[in-house]
Amino acid sequence: MSIFKQELGRLTAATEQFDKLGILDEQFWFSWQGARYPLPIVKFGPSREKPAPTLLLSSGVHGLERIGVELSLSLIDTLSRRIKWDASLNQIFEKVRLVIVPFVNPYGFVHFRRSNVNHVDLMRNAPIEAEERTPWLIGGHRLSRSLPWYRGFANELESEAKILCERVLHEAARSPVLVSLDIHSGFGIVDRLWFPFAYSKRPFPLMTEVSALVDIYEENFPHHIYRIQPQSHDYTTHGDLWDYMFLEHQKQSSNIFLPLSLEMGSWNWIKKNPLQLFSKLGFFNPVKGHRRARTLRRHYGLIDFLLRSLYSEKFWKEIQIKKNENHHQSRGRRWYGHL
Ligand SMILES: [Zn+2]
Repeated sequence: MSIFKQELGRLTAATEQFDKLGILDEQFWFSWQGARYPLPIVKFGPSREKPAPTLLLSSGVHGLERIGVELSLSLIDTLSRRIKWDASLNQIFEKVRLVIVPFVNPYGFVHFRRSNVNHVDLMRNAPIEAEERTPWLIGGHRLSRSLPWYRGFANELESEAKILCERVLHEAARSPVLVSLDIHSGFGIVDRLWFPFAYSKRPFPLMTEVSALVDIYEENFPHHIYRIQPQSHDYTTHGDLWDYMFLEHQKQSSNIFLPLSLEMGSWNWIKKNPLQLFSKLGFFNPVKGHRRARTLRRHYGLIDFLLRSLYSEKFWKEIQIKKNENHHQSRGRRWYGHL
């Protein structure tokens, strides 16, 4: 059996497993080149029509960044075991919805490539232009689909991007608070937690909410591992889906929507094991078993914290009170200086 068939079989088997466990919430199929590719959406907690604070995790937007997909799959596996006995987790899922889109780009995953079937980089595909100078090619371009970071046609979302955007905007409109975490790997040495914007260096409008969440995280977990900052501090891009979704959401709703991205710093894995550079996957994924295991358990604390913060209604109410009293505004200073 070819390696591609094997990988496709893995994704299909995972999807069937979600169905069996009763956590498969939406299911999309694509037919490409004579094969069927699944794009499942998994859910724990209240139904998608019910207003509920929501955490949405997505991974595998870039097919080569396989460790993110592994992380989502292992989290789904853990949670579906824990809900059988863990009363506190069940209590959380009575109030909070957790949505997981484990492989947004199934074709890229199966065929070991960053882009989708049409050679489009889904994270450069949104109809939004950078306000700042972007790094050449990396920032997204329409020069040629045979070059990486290709944006696709203007004003045309690729099917996978469309599915993600529709679900996220649906959640954002119904959830009093939606926090999303899009999981990537490949940039830098440290693990970064980015919030918008990618297209602009201007301050993210929900600075009070981001600051409050970061403050409480840092107070409670002072030894955490993340560098937390707007993505534009690292680099700017065209076509970022989260910028686009956030701005679309703001046009129609005042519900809180905080889109975060986790960028796992893969250069550290390479530093420790330079031979990885010679493999296509090695640049984006930990290759050695112990490093892979460490990466898979490393982020559970963050995900648990986000779930618990969403469960704590009082926390979000107090932010609104502080917002009205204009507290916290100055907190953006650490990121934007002039605020
Ligand atoms: Zn990525």
